[in-house]
Amino acid sequence: MENKFDSEKVIEEFESITKNAKKVQAETLKKILKENCEAEYLKKWNLDGKFDPQTYTSSVPVVTHKDLLPYIQRIADGANYPVLTGKPITTITLSSGTTQGKPKFVPYNDELTETTMQIYRTSFAFRNRAFPIGNGKALSFIFGSKQFTTKGGLLAGTATTNVYRSSQFKKTMRAIQTPCCSPDEVIFAPDFHQSLYCHLLCGLIYHEDIQVISSTFAHSIVHSFRIFELVWEELCSDIRKGVLSARVTVPSIRTAMARVLTPNPELADKIYNKCLGLVEWNRLIPEMFPNCKYIYGIMTGSMEPYLKKLRHYAGEVPLLSGDYGSSEGWIGANVNPNLPPEMTTFAVLPDIGYFEFLPLTEVDLDGPIESKPVGLTDVQIGEEYEVVVTNFAGLYRYRLGDVVKVIGFHNATPELQFVCRRNLMLTINIDKNTEKDLQLSVEAAAKLLATEKLEVLDFTSHIDLSSEPGHYVIFWEVSGEASDAVLKECCNCLDKSFVDAGYVSSRKVNAIGPLELRVLKRGTFQKILDHYVAQGSALNQFKTPRCVSPANQTVLQILCSNVVKSYVSTTFG
Ligand code: AMP
Repeated sequence: MENKFDSEKVIEEFESITKNAKKVQAETLKKILKENCEAEYLKKWNLDGKFDPQTYTSSVPVVTHKDLLPYIQRIADGANYPVLTGKPITTITLSSGTTQGKPKFVPYNDELTETTMQIYRTSFAFRNRAFPIGNGKALSFIFGSKQFTTKGGLLAGTATTNVYRSSQFKKTMRAIQTPCCSPDEVIFAPDFHQSLYCHLLCGLIYHEDIQVISSTFAHSIVHSFRIFELVWEELCSDIRKGVLSARVTVPSIRTAMARVLTPNPELADKIYNKCLGLVEWNRLIPEMFPNCKYIYGIMTGSMEPYLKKLRHYAGEVPLLSGDYGSSEGWIGANVNPNLPPEMTTFAVLPDIGYFEFLPLTEVDLDGPIESKPVGLTDVQIGEEYEVVVTNFAGLYRYRLGDVVKVIGFHNATPELQFVCRRNLMLTINIDKNTEKDLQLSVEAAAKLLATEKLEVLDFTSHIDLSSEPGHYVIFWEVSGEASDAVLKECCNCLDKSFVDAGYVSSRKVNAIGPLELRVLKRGTFQKILDHYVAQGSALNQFKTPRCVSPANQTVLQILCSNVVKSYVSTTFG
């Protein structure tokens, strides 16, 4: 028998560790250092058996991924001695590679699976208290990424793949009453298009059992329902005949789906008629999944632009934003699920890693550090910091590259809001526009597009320095044919919506050239997604890169070769 999930007990434990956050942090650090003190990297810093925060932070430097890469590479190449951790690392995580254009290698071990389960249980306990669910299933748009072996024989895949493959994951999902409605063969299929189709089919077959719809990041939920709009008739036909569409060719998926798919003309008619009755797919989710209690996934940061569409599909079904983490490990749980996604905060779990916070200064991600990081319980409300992580899998004082803002405290642990990736910044000279600034500017301009009943499906940006002066390029994929007049207006609006003083003054004196809006062929972002998945990412971890640097050649090339129209701003001219 599975252990019954006890929300109150989980919440009690969370309250206790967060009340003693400072002490728990010191104990967590001690545990990490004790377990790993034989590692070559830690020996180098002569901790001399002293595992307290003071000795640690004065002996071990703050580093970036670049600094640790030679060590990680040696692990991946099969080093048979403790390099970063006491116990050997047997698995490598591939980060999604959104920022740099190619996935980063990050060490992974069982402790990270454990902390993942802890954060899942914690936020679920709070969610379940506010939004109780019954026994049933989850329609989870989750996908195993491609896995490969490194030169040294280590398995490498995305963090979520490592988690989904673990036995603890299934155990936890069963305990929190939401096993995935799709068979494993669908989750781990070698082709995510086929996998997605079958997730949708399973969701419909079990439509009355679905309690929750989820994914890691909200993008994949929106993407999945956009696909639903295209394939619903085929899905209905499969259900009617009990035969899986020929589009699914992977034998293992076909065999697994044959076990759940039986002819059901009644259900097919029901779904077909419901689809016909929907106006522009509004309230698709409550219509198809009448018992769905909420939609769950990360909806903050670069996911915010998808909220509008998600709300359109969700109707009255609440949107609950997920936790905050990365391939390098989890950081905080959303323990206030009642807050709208835009206001989500993350309470840092003080026993899943040792956390420091680097006050923001004017330096680049790779630049020298001018300020000293402060400890978890020493952060100031209202201030912004870059997160620095020490985890159980060989990362020591590692700059994550994310900017967070301290909103308050839950007991003694800070509640953070995600602000942006630190180096995803549009800058030519004295201007500085973050991912968030870009999002706001796109939102403002998209309102003009709405007058033609069109929407921005996705967007990204690029700094074009190929001619003098350099200028911002914004790429848009639009849901239909917009008129030239409105796109021209959108372009002007984008330009004037960047209100950063550095940008405005540079534009006025033409030190930055007119902003350019380039409209993309339909399906361009799908090509970008395909590219990332081919590199080893997974659909559920995909984040559209919001600023594409020249280093990200392939994506830039996909963008530039799919431009159908372009407009130049006349705002300052
Ligand atoms: P990856 O490890 O490649 O899957 O990406 C991890 C990154 O995703 C983090 O460093 C953040 O930039 C972003 N991220 C993760 N969780 C959240 C969240 N809850 N809100 C906003 N951004 C997030």
